[in-house]
Amino acid sequence: MYVFSCQYSQNKNKTSSNKKQNISNKMKKTEVEWKRSLTDQEYRILREKGTERAFIGKYDGHFEEGVYECAGCGSKLFQSETKYRSGCGWPAFYDAIPGAIEEHDDNTLGMRRIEITCSKCDGHLGHVFNDGPKPTGLRYCVNSVSMDFQPGKK
Ligand SMILES: [Zn+2]
Repeated sequence: MYVFSCQYSQNKNKTSSNKKQNISNKMKKTEVEWKRSLTDQEYRILREKGTERAFIGKYDGHFEEGVYECAGCGSKLFQSETKYRSGCGWPAFYDAIPGAIEEHDDNTLGMRRIEITCSKCDGHLGHVFNDGPKPTGLRYCVNSVSMDFQPGKK
């Protein structure tokens, strides 16, 4: 047993250090092209920053070995070994694959949160919080709809 609140301050640097990454090989599509290549639900979440309902996502209770990829572009986002049971109702990871994710300040809904997007296609994935487990203290809270799962070892 340990207390989550002790970890908050020392992890702040980690979340903000990813912010200024400039990755030039972005996938650019028009909204019409995205509408054509995504399902309605994927479009609503990835392109319009929607959120799926808690506890119904296909990967919330999913703990097989493999890698989670972006549903928009196929870029690898999270390894299954960093997934954990957060109880928040969405798939949660304590770390992301390096360079896979960009962070943005999000002050919508009267909250100060950090939005996470796919660094390749800018698709909305979810948010990252500072209340995760060791070793990072981070909780990447991700919509199941934003991801596809590839089973097997990396
Ligand atoms: Zn993507």
